[in-house]
Formats: sequence, C-alpha cells, structure tokens
Amino acid sequence: MSVNAVRKQSSDDEVINLAKSLIKSWKKLLDSTEEKAEEKKKANSTTSTSPCSSSSSEHKDQNTEKKELPPKTPTTPLATSFPLPPITRDTVRNKCREMISAALQFENDYIAIGVDCDDLAARIEEHIFQEFGVTDMKYKNKVRSRISNLKDPKNPELRKNVLCGNILPERIAAMTSEEMASKELQEMRKALTKEAIREHQMAKTGGTQTDLFTCGKCKMKNCTYTQVQTRSADEPMTTFVVCNECGNRWKFN
Ligand SMILES: [Zn+2]
Repeated sequence: MSVNAVRKQSSDDEVINLAKSLIKSWKKLLDSTEEKAEEKKKANSTTSTSPCSSSSSEHKDQNTEKKELPPKTPTTPLATSFPLPPITRDTVRNKCREMISAALQFENDYIAIGVDCDDLAARIEEHIFQEFGVTDMKYKNKVRSRISNLKDPKNPELRKNVLCGNILPERIAAMTSEEMASKELQEMRKALTKEAIREHQMAKTGGTQTDLFTCGKCKMKNCTYTQVQTRSADEPMTTFVVCNECGNRWKFN
C-alpha cells in the first residue's frame, strides 16, 4: 500500500515503473500462496471424505496421536506417591528430626530393612508438629517420648515396626506411651492400676511431708506427697498429694 501511494504521488516514470513491477511481483507471491492453500484444502477434503484412501487417513491419525501425547514431565513416580515432608528451617524442629532419626538408627536393623531414617524421622516430626503447631514443651515432650521408646532396648519391636512401615509415621506420632511400651510393661500396667501403684509407692516411701501445697478443702498447708511414674519412664511423673489435716487426696502431672 505504501509503495502504491509512492507510485501514485510520483511523476518520475522510473519510480512509477519500479513500483508497479514490485507490486506486481508481490501480488504474484500472494496469489501463488493462496492457490497452494486452496490446493491443500481440496486435498484434505478429498482424503477425509473418500473412504478408499485409508492409508492417508491412517497416517493422519498417527499425526494427531503424536500431537496429543502429553509432554514428558521430569517428576519421578516416587516423588508423587510419597510426597516429601515440607522442609523446615526451624532449628528446633530440625534438631528433633535429627534426634528421631538417630533413635531409628539405634540398632542396625534399619540397614536390613533399608529405610531412609532421615526421611522417616522428618515425617514423624511433621505429624507431631502438626498436632501442636509450635515447638513448645508439649511438642518437645512428645518428641522425647517417641525417641526414648524407639530406643527402648526392651522394646525393639516398636522401632522395627516403625522402620518397616507396620506403624505409620502418623501413628507413631500419635501413640500414647502405653501403646508404645513393650508388652512386658503393658502387662505390668494392667496388673497394677494407678491406685495400686500409688498405694504401693506410698507404703514404700511413706511420702514426703511438705508445706508447698494448699489443700483445696481445708486450705491448710500440711500435706504429704509422693511422685509416681504411672506412665512410661520418659513421661513426667504424677504427683499424689494427701492432706494430713482432712485426708483430702488429689493428684497432678
Ligand atoms: Zn485438707
């Protein structure tokens, strides 16, 4: 269009002629491509409509199939089936993961089972953290109790079950000390109720007289207390208090 405008404005014959020939040659190029396109259209319509040209239609199908193939993604099947626990920059959490991993490697059975203890520990820690949302005392106590139970020489089954996946990370993260404890201890606990243990301990130690506690009933500070391990060894002790004035009894962890 610009060249045509130059041609119209010009009075120079040479310029007019050159412009004309240039436009003519461009038109030729345009016409030939349009012709080719129409030829292609015709060819396509004939192959798609004619049922006898099976070879060409087959070829066409193959082409479309190739186009529809999804692009190869670099994701590994392992990564998709077992999503990695989120990486944390929290130093407390990472330390806890290290400690859990070390507990899982307490004996060499992890080698035979063939498990990535760091990865497993991270999963366990993740579930514990999810429960509390913070790395407070409760979180730390929970981590500690997992570790001591995993390292319990009387209870290697717990660690083995965790290592081989019989006990999933979310399960070990939530288990109570009683659940984690060895069969031996479990049976002992069944035989001795908390009250029985308390009586046993009271009889054994006689308790300690103290003015640290105020009785809720008589408000006096004349009590005898004793601390008992009612749960597993790693849990905080339960303190049993008896008021020497009125006989009121209470306990706290
Ligand atoms: Zn009292």
